[in-house]
Amino acid sequence: MLKTNENRGNLIILSGPSAVGKGTVLRALLEEYDDVCYSVSATTREPRKGEVNGVHYFFMSQDKFKESIENNEFIEWAKVHNNYYGTPRNYVEDTLKSGKDVILEIDIQGARQVADSFSEGVFVFLAPPSMEELKSRIYKRGTETEDVIQTRMSNATKELEEIDRYDYLIINDEVENAVNKLKSIIIAERCKI
Ligand code: 5GP
Repeated sequence: MLKTNENRGNLIILSGPSAVGKGTVLRALLEEYDDVCYSVSATTREPRKGEVNGVHYFFMSQDKFKESIENNEFIEWAKVHNNYYGTPRNYVEDTLKSGKDVILEIDIQGARQVADSFSEGVFVFLAPPSMEELKSRIYKRGTETEDVIQTRMSNATKELEEIDRYDYLIINDEVENAVNKLKSIIIAERCKI
């Protein structure tokens, strides 16, 4: 019988520095391409206006989050800007087993953990066109103090050094370009022998 790679889905990890536009690119991808399942993360941060539990995140208390870590319920977790974020193991494993692709939108520390401890994954690094552009995107969010902006910029500089650990690099110059590239990667990986 012809052996195909149709049996198990691919785990796609979309990562990159804070404010590079991971969420925007992912939302745009999911609007036009529904052959990939988005893994909803758990977080201890407060919901923002319009965010729905179970859709944007599973919002939980720190105690519940720590209990879930103890019970090995995350394939990775990280503390990002003073809040905890984690990827639920069951959803990812069940969906991959059912043959569907799963995409994670996670920070660089989380991606490193998936690379180190989960034996599979297609790692996609989303990078800003320049550091100036990244800084201006952080400013545009308008939610951060000058100190926080400086910390994020220095973290981003370190994070860019990790590009070599990834399978693909996408420069987020225009959202549409980035989405096309991400979609092409997902489709190409499906065709891989
Ligand atoms: P935000 O609070 O703005 O939604 O997300 C903050 C950061 O946390 C972003 O860089 C986002 O990619 C990251 N993040 C969201 N979910 C997860 C997760 O499950 N694991 C990890 N490691 N990072 C996450």
